[in-house]
Amino acid sequence: MQIEENVSLKKYNTFGVDANARYFVEIKTEDELQEIITNQEFKKDKKIFLGGGSNILFTKDYDGLIAKISTKGNRVVDENEKEVLVESSAGEKWNDFVTYCVEKNFFGVENLSLIPGTVGAAPIQNIGAYGAELKDVFESLDGIMIDSGEKKSFSKNECQFDYRDSIFKKKYKDNFLITKVLFRLQKEKKFNLNYRAFQSYLKPGEQNKLSLREMSELVKRIRRDKLPNPQKYGNAGSFFKNPEVDLRKINELQEKFNDLVHFKVEEDKYKISAGWLIEKCGFRGKNIGNVGTYKKQALVIINFGGATGDEIKKFSENIQNAVENKFNITLTPEVNIY
Ligand code: FAD
Ligand code: NAP
Repeated sequence: MQIEENVSLKKYNTFGVDANARYFVEIKTEDELQEIITNQEFKKDKKIFLGGGSNILFTKDYDGLIAKISTKGNRVVDENEKEVLVESSAGEKWNDFVTYCVEKNFFGVENLSLIPGTVGAAPIQNIGAYGAELKDVFESLDGIMIDSGEKKSFSKNECQFDYRDSIFKKKYKDNFLITKVLFRLQKEKKFNLNYRAFQSYLKPGEQNKLSLREMSELVKRIRRDKLPNPQKYGNAGSFFKNPEVDLRKINELQEKFNDLVHFKVEEDKYKISAGWLIEKCGFRGKNIGNVGTYKKQALVIINFGGATGDEIKKFSENIQNAVENKFNITLTPEVNIY
């Protein structure tokens, strides 16, 4: 393990922001993870454990240690006729884990194909897409308390998963390192095709014939058509969460906007499309300097080249203010801002 000084983070975050880390290390083994946490030289330094950098915005240089997690490995730990438990290391690329499952014919993560980032970061915001969430296949995770070095495991209940949220974004934010995640996957074919995008891509009758590989490829195709490739346009996916409101607020908005995009979550709880709110404020495809929103999805903020993290943050605050003024709704960032 080699600790470097004053390292540019540009290639380690999908926004492509050029901030510097005072110290930087790439970690490839479990022992190195433990070692970096207990290392006396860095004991007092603040630390960020980084995965793929696809949900992060650096607004300034980081005066501490950035440890990029690159531990690898997937293994079956138990199975029966119907189910299989697979343990995956934190530094595995999420999409490589999905590919592993698809190749083994393990069902459950196909709707989450092509989400950038790592396995270790996936529980933090309970990643979700196309009607599926990590919590649907999650069994437990292992990790280390960053301040004390104590090892700790979390069951599904203990993670307090919610919509793009978990205990790791709250009580344990920046103080718990996830090292391994255990998944419960299915051996019997069962697809979740309720999401509206699937209907427009599949011909009648086609959905009954889909193989697991075809289902995963379908998700990838839909994503590539709609979402920007970070290698071309620096971005961190959805910048904000879709806000949740009650029925009274939905009724109030529908009186003014008959095209309101919203979905029922549970009794008296509705999710409004943040992309729709932003679009209605005139921000779809709008640029200020090198920052703007993606023309096909206003919820994605883009660094068109050379933007600083601070410029991106200010642009996001313009959006928040516009949405607050027009709709009296507060948009909460989904991206982790440092
Ligand atoms: P990073 O950005 O590296 O880190 C994010 C946060 O997690 C940081 O606070 C970091 O310190 C912490 N962290 C990272 N690893 C660990 C660990 N092992 N232990 C403890 N803390 C850790 N998200 C979705 O939910 N659904 C989508 O469909 C989706 N699509 C996306 C599409 C694009 C084009 C992009 C760029 C992003 C998208 N995202 C999506 C967001 C992002 O990919 C996910 O949130 C992903 O889980 C982030 O993983 P990461 O490894 O890149 O995390
Ligand atoms: P989309 O299909 O244009 O849909 C817009 C929004 O409407 C989404 O945010 C989605 O909520 C919601 N929605 C659509 N159909 C729904 C249904 N049947 N039931 C409930 N909610 C529904 O979205 P998109 O931008 O192309 O993204 C496609 C999927 O990938 C979405 O699930 C999105 O969350 C995910 N994604 C996430 C990120 C990220 O960074 N978090 C980035 C890119 C894509 P949900 O977001 O709750 O699904």
